Amino acid sequence: MAWKIALAGIGKIARDQHVPSIAASRDFDLAATVTRHEGVDGVENHADIEAMLAARPDIEVVSLCLPPVPRFEYAAAAIKAGRHVMLEKPPGATLAECHALEAMARNAGVSIYATWHSREAASVEAARNWLADKRLKSLKITWLEDVRRWHPGQEWIWEPGGLGVFDPGINALSILTRILPTPVHLAGATLKFPENRQTPIAADLAFRHPDGAEVSAVFDWRKEGDQFWNIEAETDRGTMELSDGGANLSIDGAMVEASDVALEGEYPNLYMRMAEILRTGGIDMDLSPMVHVADAFLLGKREIVAPFHE
Ligand code: NAP
Repeated sequence: MAWKIALAGIGKIARDQHVPSIAASRDFDLAATVTRHEGVDGVENHADIEAMLAARPDIEVVSLCLPPVPRFEYAAAAIKAGRHVMLEKPPGATLAECHALEAMARNAGVSIYATWHSREAASVEAARNWLADKRLKSLKITWLEDVRRWHPGQEWIWEPGGLGVFDPGINALSILTRILPTPVHLAGATLKFPENRQTPIAADLAFRHPDGAEVSAVFDWRKEGDQFWNIEAETDRGTMELSDGGANLSIDGAMVEASDVALEGEYPNLYMRMAEILRTGGIDMDLSPMVHVADAFLLGKREIVAPFHE
């Protein structure tokens, strides 16, 4: 049996990943979309979430691909209407609203899943397994990309709650919180805000590790040319490099796990996991990547940098 699912927020990630992943899934049938603009060919569309929920009581699951700020109202409406909910990353605009959604889902007896697609990258589990029995000396995240290439025309990323460079940076933090055997917490940060924008274009983060390992991250949206999404770790028994956003893994300089295509398999895995959660009636709301982002905004020094224009 396949669950009927509705997809809300038909933008870049919905079209690139969610629609094809649902089409390829035996667990879900795309029964409706919710978007104020163009929907998906051949699929019933509603401009409004409440209208969709009222018109389609047969739809059991709602997957939300909106930007973080409008997501809460959609999720709350879906839960109130007794539907299971799947959330794009980050699961909300604030931690408190994510906790509220989880409590609402528990009370309503529905499932909720805060997805972290980068955790599904091909080599993340291998990196986690390799690190599991080693003593970490240092770990450095380098996430350098060109915002003009990856987010053309997306104004919401520059608005309050849009996260700026933490929109991709939280993907690195979702991997960090998955692969480290012991959790770290933020100890300091510098956030670089273009003088004409509300969210940072770059950030440097330093973390405290319980055994004193040096753990840091550099996020920068001003990188032209080659793009880097790497995590390098040094341990008492060798070094590891997780590259291409978690797709590839090298140990002591030798490639051990390799995947050609960025994002390949990530979204199909998220929908497989959602199906598992629905079968067991579970809730999966791991907010640990978002805690680091919230802490960076709480603790970070603010630097003003050159204005950003598209
Ligand atoms: P996008 O292209 O801007 O699409 C977002 C969609 O949400 C819009 O098409 C819009 O559709 C809808 N929406 C509803 N209310 C909105 C509002 N108040 N402001 C703006 N849009 C609103 O964004 P995206 O890149 O798909 O990203 C959406 C989410 O997916 C983000 O949380 C992002 O972090 C995550 N994500 C993106 C990527 C990526 O490669 N782009 C990768 C992984 C995850 P209507 O106006 O038609 O309703």
